[in-house]
Amino acid sequence: MYENIIGQDEVCKTLAGEIIRGSLPPALLFSGPVASGKLTTALETARLLSCREKGAWNCACPDCAMHRRLGHPDLLLFGARSLPEEISVAKEFIFRNPCQASAYFFLRSLAKLSARFNPALWTSEESRLGKAAALVESMNEAADRIDPATIGSKLDSETVKAVESAYTDALALGPLVPEAPVFMLRNMRIWAQLAPMGKRRTVIIENADKMQDSARNAMLKILEEPPDTVRFILLTSRRASMLATVLSRARLYSFSPRDEKTSALVLQRVLKTDERAESLTAFYESRLPFSPGQARVLAEKLIGKILFDAGWEKEGLGEYGQSLIDLAADSSQDMDGILIDVSQQTKGFGARDKALAGSFIRFLRALTVVFTSLLQESMGNKILLTMIDRCSTLIRDAAIQYSSYNRNPEFLSRLLVASFKEHSVDLKNPGFHPEFSDSRGAIEGAQRP
Ligand SMILES: [Zn+2]
Repeated sequence: MYENIIGQDEVCKTLAGEIIRGSLPPALLFSGPVASGKLTTALETARLLSCREKGAWNCACPDCAMHRRLGHPDLLLFGARSLPEEISVAKEFIFRNPCQASAYFFLRSLAKLSARFNPALWTSEESRLGKAAALVESMNEAADRIDPATIGSKLDSETVKAVESAYTDALALGPLVPEAPVFMLRNMRIWAQLAPMGKRRTVIIENADKMQDSARNAMLKILEEPPDTVRFILLTSRRASMLATVLSRARLYSFSPRDEKTSALVLQRVLKTDERAESLTAFYESRLPFSPGQARVLAEKLIGKILFDAGWEKEGLGEYGQSLIDLAADSSQDMDGILIDVSQQTKGFGARDKALAGSFIRFLRALTVVFTSLLQESMGNKILLTMIDRCSTLIRDAAIQYSSYNRNPEFLSRLLVASFKEHSVDLKNPGFHPEFSDSRGAIEGAQRP
């Protein structure tokens, strides 16, 4: 059991023992750093619970076959998670080394994404799917055209087309994965209670710490009286952010960090590459077109320029804020120049290359990350706090405008920057802008046709 999990022998031994003895608790909490194998272990646990035989790694029973494609009807997987990194790595893998293993890896990475849009989770909330609905359908249709059993050492042109098409859809769909909203928890509860006789169902929630209060409370209610045919596996890399009452109802399984050597082993065994990386996360992120690192560089330039132009003094901004202002002072690039850079690197946020369709949300995330870091170092600068508070609201609005109302991302980004500028000037020089208009209204106004 758990032969495929690398570097987590202790936790796997515990789980295997509990499965054999039938003493697995109703709720499990897998806690450990990002990319330490929590999800793979959770998925393997789900397979072992459904298997009709003895759970061998290569078991040929129909349940195991369905689990291998992550398409088992007794499995529900959701929660916040960025998947485009893994899908980019998987695409590279299948092209570099076409074989059954790489085909399964690619299909599994797509399935992790499409699981988030499982109709069972969206019952009576389908209208919230927005532009995701068509993308899921198109991605799944392309995935169905990839058959691991027939993959030879060279991909045929039909398979190449299917891989490219599924990949493009996945990159656009990735940023639309929601955190676990309360309606999903409610739908999940109904699903869990309907477990067919003699079947064992598994619910896996990734980043279970990232839930709104209403969703956490719904989760708690479910854990208070878990149906005995269902196992709940919660995954977190930030255990301290979990609700204490949830923690007290789940048995803890600690995953240890993977060092460079173990990471290299994973790359070698799973992805058949000798490439070395500082960590698995770094390896995955480097494969993404418009990576989070790239997005962050641009976000830092932009925010530095805004602070610099508005005349913010370096004092009171902390070391990080000072470095951003220095960066802007040394650069001859003006705001328009930076926005042109953003547009070129993201191909107009995917308008000129569909593979970059997820770049707008990644760009918004990078802006949030930069603001958060600024705040952490600003030692309670109240004006900065107010500005960042307003800007964060604008970023959230822009994300909704984009995902739910299909607004043009280039237009939204220009509007955002103009509003940031306005807030930054206004707060720095009170009274400077007598005609100050609320920019939040401008973005909300964009919603109206
Ligand atoms: Zn089996």
